[in-house]
Parts: sequence; C-alpha cells; structure tokens
Amino acid sequence: MRISYLECTRCGEHFSADRPLNVCPHDGGVLFVRYDLASLKGKLRREDLAGRVASMWRYAEVLPDASPVTLGEGFTPLLPSREFPHVFIKDEGLNPTGSFKARGMSAAVTMARHYGLKKLAAPSAGNAGGALAAYAAAAGIEAHIFMPKDVPLANRVECDYYGAHLTLVDGLISDCGRMVAERIQKDGWPKTNDGWFDVSTLKEPFRVEGKKTMGYEVAEQMGWKLPDAIIYPTGGGVGMIGMWKAFEEMEELGWIGRDCPGKARPKMITVQAAGCAPIVKAWEAGASATKSSSGKWTSEMWVGAETFAAGLRVPKAYGDYLILDILEKSGGAAVAATDEEILAAMRHWTSVEGIFAAPEGAASLVAYWKLRASGFFGADDTVVLFNTGSAYKYLDVIEARERKARVELPARAIGGIIGPY
Ligand SMILES: [Zn+2]
Repeated sequence: MRISYLECTRCGEHFSADRPLNVCPHDGGVLFVRYDLASLKGKLRREDLAGRVASMWRYAEVLPDASPVTLGEGFTPLLPSREFPHVFIKDEGLNPTGSFKARGMSAAVTMARHYGLKKLAAPSAGNAGGALAAYAAAAGIEAHIFMPKDVPLANRVECDYYGAHLTLVDGLISDCGRMVAERIQKDGWPKTNDGWFDVSTLKEPFRVEGKKTMGYEVAEQMGWKLPDAIIYPTGGGVGMIGMWKAFEEMEELGWIGRDCPGKARPKMITVQAAGCAPIVKAWEAGASATKSSSGKWTSEMWVGAETFAAGLRVPKAYGDYLILDILEKSGGAAVAATDEEILAAMRHWTSVEGIFAAPEGAASLVAYWKLRASGFFGADDTVVLFNTGSAYKYLDVIEARERKARVELPARAIGGIIGPY
C-alpha cells in the first residue's frame, strides 16, 4: 500500500487506511492521507512525469494505489491572460462534468470501489453532485445526492441521466448535509456494510487527494516555479486545502523550494460571494476575535446565504479552520464579490479571454481587480486565477440573474459594466 496512514488535522492521531473512514472518531477532524515521501525523494523526480497520461493520475505515486475510476479528469490548460501579462487562468471548466469536482470524485470513488462500498451519499451545492453521479455510474456504485431545489438545471438533469438517486431539498447545502448525516446515522455505514457511506466534502479523506493535483499541475505547468499568488473561489474550500497539501508534499519531494524551503509557496486568496462570505467575515474580524475554544480559527454559520454562484453558497465550510490557517500562513487575503460584479466579470472574461467561466470562477477576476486596485498586487505579480467550472452548466441561473439585474438597474446597460481596469 502506497498510503502510510491517515492523519487527523486536529489532534494528529494516525489511522490505518486499510478500511474506510470518514473523520477523526475523537474530534471530527479532517483526515489527511500521508505517504512515505521521504523514501520517494530522489527516486521520483519531476522529470519522470514527462510523457505520462494527461490526467491527474500522472501523479500516481502521490495518489492512492487502487485501480483508478477515471473519465480523463485533470491536466487542464493553464492559459496566459490576454489582458494581464503576468496572469494565468487555470481552466477547470474543461474537466469531465464541467468542473474541478471531477478530480475529487475520481479519487473518492476510486477508493470507495477499492473498499467494496456499494452506496455513496453526499450533499451538494450542484457540481459535486453531478461529478459524484458520473463517477459512481462509471464504477457501478449507487449514488444518493441531496441538493437545494434551486440548483442549476444542468445539475439536476445530469444526476438523473447518470442514474443517481436525487433528493431536492427546500434549503441550503447545510440542510442537505444534515439530512445525509441523519440517514447515515440511522442505517448507514458502518452500522450496515451495504448502507450509505458519506462522501461529503472533507468527511472522507480522498476528495482532497484528487483536488490537490491542481497544485501539482500549476507547479509543473509553470516550470516548477510557483506563482506569487493563487486566487481560488471558496465554497467548501477543498481546492485550496488540497493545493496547500500538494505544496507541502512537493517540498518534501524536493520538487519545489529547493533554494528557499517554505518560501516558494504562493499567497493563497479566497474569493467568496458577498451574499455568502463566512470566511471573508472571519478573516476580516481577525484570528483573536474568532478563535474557538480549541484554539483554531473558525468561521460562523452565514445566515440568509444568497448568490447565483451556486458553488459558493456554503454557509459554513467544514474545513474553515484549515482555510483560515492557509490564508494566514501564506500571507493571503479573503475578498467578497457581489453577484453584479461576478456577472460583469463573466462578460468581461468571455469577451476578452474567450473563456465562458462559471460564476464562481469569474469571482476570481473580481478579486484580482480589487486586489490590483488596493495595491495588494502590483502589475508584475504572477497570479493564477482559477476558473473552477464551465458556465454552460449555469445557463438558467445566469439568465435569471441577468433578468433580475435589469429590473434592479433599469438605467444601466449591464453589458457595459467593466471592472476598475
Ligand atoms: Zn482527531
């Protein structure tokens, strides 16, 4: 087994990866997969990657060694911006099922099949559900998905076609999560071996493993010199948590930061929707104001979450303590974008870059505009903006938001709004 053990990110206890686990049984901490990187160092060189499969599974040695359930996820393009010379756009919209969620679900379903799990369950704000449905179909595993009833139409239709069992909920992803947890407590795994197994964000260890490959790819595609900063749209935050883990692993492998260990990592920037910005709120309040009794910096549940960027409608991230820690350690920032700013950024990116970005992805551009305007970024800073998904999955919510904007702002031509640049 390539995996050495699973490690709790709260108490540090180690667990075997021989059987499926959700979170730390003592404190509910997120479990990280640990490999024997020390013995890989020197044996696995970054040059060895040349010519490997153009998917996230090219980094096989730092992924679980089970037979992958793959649809070709990962190794998405890193496109140089046509507008800003030192900006790159990592286009995750080109993944199977149209979002970065494919990476995490490929890894999670791979391990679920390896463990012989028969039924997987997850709450979703939209795209994670679609991805779970697709990979479960490919693996011949049952998927049970709970989504808010007003998720984009594409997410509902894809779950149906992939053969998942879909429950639409009159509420948010947090309500969906509670329903999954209650059902599993009643008759799920491990009580019944053929019961549901929870693959919620950060409640099993392998979705992070899939998403961390974004960090490996940014490094490889930039010639092993990481950018000054990465802007990442943050709902559950697993993409950011995964990439930070990848940077740590690459340092241990001697792939990055050879000259100045610990200094090679980018500033990590969270962008959230102004209508649901719990991490931004906690960041602005500061560590001292929001540290919990356990000493971890955490966020508060956001009340009345509302945004058309469905993936950012996460009122409290399970891994908020990990996200805030990364922002602090990296010297990063947290920025909020209004729906109107996101719409404007979508139009701007589409017309200037030729990229039809998901609302969550376009929020990265809003954050970049704001951080340039505030002086946080200079024109020479190398920044990678993540477009986390394709706008083609949001056509109905985009149209509805446009209509609402026209009613709210009858005097303004929406297509004419541009950012501060
Ligand atoms: Zn623990």
